[in-house]
Amino acid sequence: MTFRAPVDDLLFVMTHGAGLGKGLAEGLYPDLDDGMAAALLGEAGKFAESVLAPLNRGGDKEGARLENGVVMTSPGWIEAYGRWREGGWNGVCAPVEHGGMGLPHLLQAACLDMWNAANMAFTLAPLLTFGAIDALVEHGSPELQERWLGKLVSGEWTATMNLTEPQAGSDLAALRARAEPAGDGTYRIFGQKIYITYGDHDMTDNIVHLVLARLPDAPAGTRGISLFLAPKILPDGARNDLRCTALEHKMGIHGSPTASMSFGDHGGAVGWLVGEENRGLACMFTMMNAARLAVALQGVGIGERAFQQALAFAVERKQGRSARHRGAGMSPIVHHPDVRRMLMTMKALTQAARVICYMTAESLDRAHRLEDAQARQAASERAGLLTPLAKAFATDIGSEVASLGVQVHGGMGYVEETGAAQHLRDARIAAIYEGTNGIQAMDLVTRKLGLSGGAAMRREIADMRGVIAAARAAGADFAPMAARLGEAVDALERSVAVLGAASPEAAGAGATPFLRLFALARGGAGLAALALAARQEDPADPAGRVALAQFFAQNLAPGSAALETAIVQGYESVLNSDAALGISQTFP
Ligand SMILES: Cc1cc2nc3c(=O)[nH]c(=O)nc-3n(C[C@H](O)[C@H](O)[C@H](O)COP(=O)(O)OP(=O)(O)OC[C@H]3O[C@@H](n4cnc5c(N)ncnc54)[C@H](O)[C@@H]3O)c2cc1C
Repeated sequence: MTFRAPVDDLLFVMTHGAGLGKGLAEGLYPDLDDGMAAALLGEAGKFAESVLAPLNRGGDKEGARLENGVVMTSPGWIEAYGRWREGGWNGVCAPVEHGGMGLPHLLQAACLDMWNAANMAFTLAPLLTFGAIDALVEHGSPELQERWLGKLVSGEWTATMNLTEPQAGSDLAALRARAEPAGDGTYRIFGQKIYITYGDHDMTDNIVHLVLARLPDAPAGTRGISLFLAPKILPDGARNDLRCTALEHKMGIHGSPTASMSFGDHGGAVGWLVGEENRGLACMFTMMNAARLAVALQGVGIGERAFQQALAFAVERKQGRSARHRGAGMSPIVHHPDVRRMLMTMKALTQAARVICYMTAESLDRAHRLEDAQARQAASERAGLLTPLAKAFATDIGSEVASLGVQVHGGMGYVEETGAAQHLRDARIAAIYEGTNGIQAMDLVTRKLGLSGGAAMRREIADMRGVIAAARAAGADFAPMAARLGEAVDALERSVAVLGAASPEAAGAGATPFLRLFALARGGAGLAALALAARQEDPADPAGRVALAQFFAQNLAPGSAALETAIVQGYESVLNSDAALGISQTFP
């Protein structure tokens, strides 16, 4: 099925759900005046529809492969990347002084939403390059920036992120790759990395690897990790001492080569230090935070794609007779209430995740663009608070929505013919990489809730309550929505207090339910804001935004009560689970 880029819808969410309208009025986005956002999104949408989407299926069937030490991408990938480069798409957010367009993160988020929907496996290559550009802009020396940034921004080269090793996944303290000073300002890197996305490929002449490694005598743990830049091809044209030794066989994203990398088999891979010695993790976090939002948008993109496909199928496929059916013969399945429930769930979850992601992007823009230091700090804290929420919620619902998409198709969803199964297989990884969703939930509860003594979370709750009050005042048909969302925010506020006083173990057990509860409240309030804006724009609400927000508030937000119970009481059975799990009291 073809993909339709929902440009108008994304603009509406940017404007009314994520503060683009307010930002434009405040002069925060002078670069987006005069319809610039609409024009650029329109072009990005055309690229998604006409170049990326047609290659999605082929990439799944005939994925990247390693032959005689050379990684070859799927048919059509090289040409598509050439067009990507010509379009200058790597540079949307990159600084103007390095050849980029210097446009807001919010705009890039909406572009990524469509590109991921069209072809998640392809878009992973630029997605990691965006993160590397951010890391080099923030932490690279002027010499490194001068030599490497221009060609990353132009798209002539791509970049990778080399963290994971067999014994060091979520726990980077266990990292063993090492780097030795060569005495001439460069380093020699040795070690094995696994699961490296686009670790090698044939779309560009060079690949810039950002690699975490330990210097000799570095302190143990995460305080002894440094970041290095090691290119595939050195500035003098020689091949660097690093190579792809294998590609993984995966459940999905077959078009994206996932490489095992070996550094330093023949004397050491030449690398340059990025940032300060032993401060590599902080530098890598710049890259990872950008990548976390981009991965969150994979969940949104796949959700959108799966929804479009399921809706098209439900309108065509006929089975049974619905109560509303007047004509002869069978009804299209879209008329059955249970199918409608699935489709509305798919659409509402995707839109709620989208609004959270766009809010996150907007707070990043505010953190970079506001003049007032205090307001910048508040925006930066908001971005910190919302990033794990966006990453985990959007990628969890990406899988849930894709799974519902399979369900709407019935047996046709389980066989590969329709492509519905590919969305489910592709979506699944996003909850695992860039920090598993469990790690995101822990980050939210243990680090982000306490930002500025809890002020960041209190501001978020106040913002949601403001939207709910506006909904309550908006008329009778908004009243049930306001009531259910009010209950969700109440449950959230009580849970924040409970977690603030909980033991680390109890907080760990409650972290994932808490993240979902936060997302139900934040996403529900976001949809309510969109509904209010839609009603004001046109009382007839042709896009059905009021109905969508109402559906979310009445069908999904009430899950908050169950989540609160899990947070407040459920941790006991999680922690006292030795007998039920059949494991001994004493851990090995
Ligand atoms: C297709 C693919 C592409 C990837 N791309 C890259 C890449 O480009 N670069 C790169 O460096 N890596 C990449 N990765 C690696 C990825 O980031 C890791 O797989 C991920 O961080 C999880 O690490 P792990 O697989 O070792 O799982 P583990 O860390 O072993 O986790 C297993 C489970 O235990 C849980 N867990 C672990 N520790 C804790 C804890 N402290 N508290 C609570 N729960 C915990 C996790 O949430 C998870 O559910 C990729 C992986 C895949 C599969």
